[in-house]
Amino acid sequence: MIEQWNDSPGGFHPASAPDYLPVEQLRDLQLRRLQGVVRRAYDHVALFRRRMDERGARPDGLKSLADITRMPFTVKTDLRDTYPFGLFASPIQEVVRLHASSGTTGKPIVVAYTQEDINVWTSVMVRSFAACGLHRGDIIQNAYGYGLFTGGLGAHYGAEGLGATVIPISGGNSDRQIMVMKDFGVTAICCTPSYFLHLIERAGELGVDMKSLPLRAGVFGAEPWTDAMRRRIEAESSIKAYDIYGLTEIIGPGVGIECAEQSGLHLFEDHFYPEIIDPDTGAPVPDGTEGELVFTTLSKKAMPMIRYRTRDITAIIPEKCQCGRTIRRMRRIGRRSDDMFIIRGVNVFPSQVEAALLAVEGTLPHYQIVLAREKGLDQMEVQVEVTTEVFSDKVRSLELLQGQLSHKLETTLGIRAEVRLVEPHTIERSQGKAKRVIDNRKMQ
Ligand code: ADP
Ligand code: ZN
Repeated sequence: MIEQWNDSPGGFHPASAPDYLPVEQLRDLQLRRLQGVVRRAYDHVALFRRRMDERGARPDGLKSLADITRMPFTVKTDLRDTYPFGLFASPIQEVVRLHASSGTTGKPIVVAYTQEDINVWTSVMVRSFAACGLHRGDIIQNAYGYGLFTGGLGAHYGAEGLGATVIPISGGNSDRQIMVMKDFGVTAICCTPSYFLHLIERAGELGVDMKSLPLRAGVFGAEPWTDAMRRRIEAESSIKAYDIYGLTEIIGPGVGIECAEQSGLHLFEDHFYPEIIDPDTGAPVPDGTEGELVFTTLSKKAMPMIRYRTRDITAIIPEKCQCGRTIRRMRRIGRRSDDMFIIRGVNVFPSQVEAALLAVEGTLPHYQIVLAREKGLDQMEVQVEVTTEVFSDKVRSLELLQGQLSHKLETTLGIRAEVRLVEPHTIERSQGKAKRVIDNRKMQ
């Protein structure tokens, strides 16, 4: 593949060929793959079979793409309820990798990949990087976290598949990130947009002028950001900042990417079939109308997903893109229809925080999460009321409780949070839905 590739800047990467399929051919391919994946889900996953049977939705009843609306939805709690391996459609002997992401409570959601799935994932990441104008000869600093999260390894395999040079630096240690970026002549970086903002700031403090470095592209995702933030990043670092989208349940990063036009994210629809629905009724809405994004995986083997509700709000862009790709675009994601928030690239549900807090004796079920951005880095403070006994006790026991809570939160969420203990009745009571999260982070 790489041998015949024209790897000059602006050159075409052969892995990107499906981006340009004639639309009819693409729809045809989607339908054939859809029929296959629904059949696979029905035959191998009890939950899907039960749901389809309940609705009388037979896999062989799928005659057109529009028939997909007969299929049942899948939601995040389905992954929790079948934890850990209940949605696998392949025997463990065929599973070569597991990843995990935050669930709605203390347990993560677990996903599986066969070797074929890994190859598909690599190919969509190669296509993502190629759409950002990256190629062989680029030096890519991968500052997404390596480990159970999909970000690190997803971008890593994609960068290698592209034939670029990957630096698997993972997240954190900003001074070292900046040293490596400068000394190794890095030309592209992958991380969350908020972390890159932090790196810009830190570089300034260290006297490193980012604008004078060879760095020319950033592939930023895993959290919502705005065009205003993009302009800020591009102005302060002289790079082009691309939005990349993905989610663990579908494959990880590489579900959608911006091209050089930077006007919406192309979806790799030959592998992930998108729908937009009204989040309240579940009914499909026409292209151009905002709603909740739903995906069906078209080629996943180990863990097919049928009409997975992402909770991300966006719209399909009906117009053709100037770049010539035929795969459709969606608007960048600005918000979600649930209460999940993302801090330093990690998903957090208030329900997880609640479960962690209440597992520790001495706390009351009144809490609030305050998010702030200091020096470009997201900070999270959890304020929690504690019983009068604890509060009137010695300072020592307050400190002890604070330590316990911090530890519990860190082990549950995988990120650090400041804990502030407050007296009973300090946190404002709401008349209706409790406002658990106060987000003071500025998007720009
Ligand atoms: P990751 O954080 O590695 O992308 P997760 O499965 O942990 O994968 O989180 C997926 C969620 O992260 C998405 O459903 C979406 O809410 C958010 N997300 C990912 N990429 C973006 C992006 N580019 N813009 C906005 N939100 C994003
Ligand atoms: Zn385009």
